[in-house]
Amino acid sequence: MRIMMVASEAVPLAKTGGLADVSTGLSKALADAGHEVALVLPCYRQFISEADRGTVVGEVQVSFPGAVINAEVYETTIPESKVKVLLIDRPSFFDREGLYVEDGHDYGDNAERFLFFSRAAVEVAKSLFVPDVIHANDWQTGLVPALIFQARENGEPLGSIGTTFTIHNMAFHGEFPSLQMTNTGLDSEYFNWEQLEYFGKLNLLKGGIATADKVTTVSPTYATEICQPEYGYGLDPALEHRGTDLVGILNGVDMNVWNPAVDSKLPEQYTAQNYSAGKSACKSALQQELGLHENPDAMLFGLVSRLTDQKGLDLITQKAIQILGADVQFAFLGTGDSRYETILSDLQQAYPGKVAAVIGFDDGLAHRIEAGSDAYFMPSRFEPCGLNQQYSLIYGTPPLVHAVGGLADSVVDANRHTLDNGTATGFTFSNYDADLFLETVWRSVGMFQHHKDDWNKLVTNGMTRDSSWNRSAQEYVDVYQSAIEKLG
Ligand code: ADP
Repeated sequence: MRIMMVASEAVPLAKTGGLADVSTGLSKALADAGHEVALVLPCYRQFISEADRGTVVGEVQVSFPGAVINAEVYETTIPESKVKVLLIDRPSFFDREGLYVEDGHDYGDNAERFLFFSRAAVEVAKSLFVPDVIHANDWQTGLVPALIFQARENGEPLGSIGTTFTIHNMAFHGEFPSLQMTNTGLDSEYFNWEQLEYFGKLNLLKGGIATADKVTTVSPTYATEICQPEYGYGLDPALEHRGTDLVGILNGVDMNVWNPAVDSKLPEQYTAQNYSAGKSACKSALQQELGLHENPDAMLFGLVSRLTDQKGLDLITQKAIQILGADVQFAFLGTGDSRYETILSDLQQAYPGKVAAVIGFDDGLAHRIEAGSDAYFMPSRFEPCGLNQQYSLIYGTPPLVHAVGGLADSVVDANRHTLDNGTATGFTFSNYDADLFLETVWRSVGMFQHHKDDWNKLVTNGMTRDSSWNRSAQEYVDVYQSAIEKLG
């Protein structure tokens, strides 16, 4: 199958969150399975060096009212893979400091930037890489399936391409003034409440949901949740309307990158069969690196996250002082709401040697926290899929999670039954409640300190679970196939 993946970020080239891991990880797994994959990305400042960009393979032109905007298309590859990368180079839009935001503010022309990018990707699909299926991701590319839908209604050749649209997070809609409709290349008739309009505004997430042949999201539980008002952010009726065209597929993990057996960012590698010495070495190196007391017995909780309400920071910060009454340590790494940045930095000040708070984005440290911690905090209020809890499982660091979305689909709570039948991998709680969170922390501390055999079972179960992309990639191929079959 010829598959075009269109996304606004991809590791290792440009990343703000999980979408970047998914677009690359899935593309690589699809290419490994024998499919021809082209990943279309904006040429951000990160690619500015000629060597990184590869070579020019063509040019695309997009007509906006009053102006034709063109871009060169560079071709390179994802390192160590068969995935072709096509970069849309329009410096006035993409040669900037940030991807979407600078100094805490969204770029004022994000609509123009990503409408242009989506339309350029569709131009690429006409000639430079003609796919059987286009897989678009999140609001930044929500226009892509809409343009294919329009082409189909107009009987144009582009209409024979199947489309899949993946929602990585319902919270981000890409909502813009209705005037932007003139920049979409769509007929104004598509600005209606069943397609791209949401209460008088252009809503690109809704456009993708309404017009793609198949809609997916990143875990089965989240697929059910987003059809309900509590998680649907107003688009639950649009999602419910898609019925069985909406499918949940749990993200996999790129095992070449997140795998303690081969991870060169760690001071020592280790495997599920023999983790004890390696993991202890990673823990003491992490304690040293972060200025924590070098105490092997203190239970070290890690967290690598955007610091926002979504990630359960309110529960952690509410209960931190009580938890710190026990023989525990915290290793926090993140950026985000200044409120949380301040609280975590204050905790570090108040508990030297027990709390480390690194405010910033540091991929190497993220790996070392996954490996060097004993347990991992991920009590998200909602979580479409979540990658860090899966990394924690692989690194033998049982996660403590709120059982929603992908967290519910990837972590099995430890109790006598699940420990005996070999399925337990972490600790879960069902209601988003600070006391329940604290109770769950005490359960994990109790097991870590007093029931080492059970703890070791948890570690091994998580490390041996299949977290790779292979299984999920096959599920995506099935979805692409049914998108194509729908075309008749
Ligand atoms: P989301 O996409 O909602 O931010 P995920 O758990 O799906 O959450 O993915 C987050 C990704 O971003 C993970 O790969 C995580 O390691 C990484 N990450 C988040 N914050 C940081 C940070 N401050 N430093 C390094 N990596 C980070």
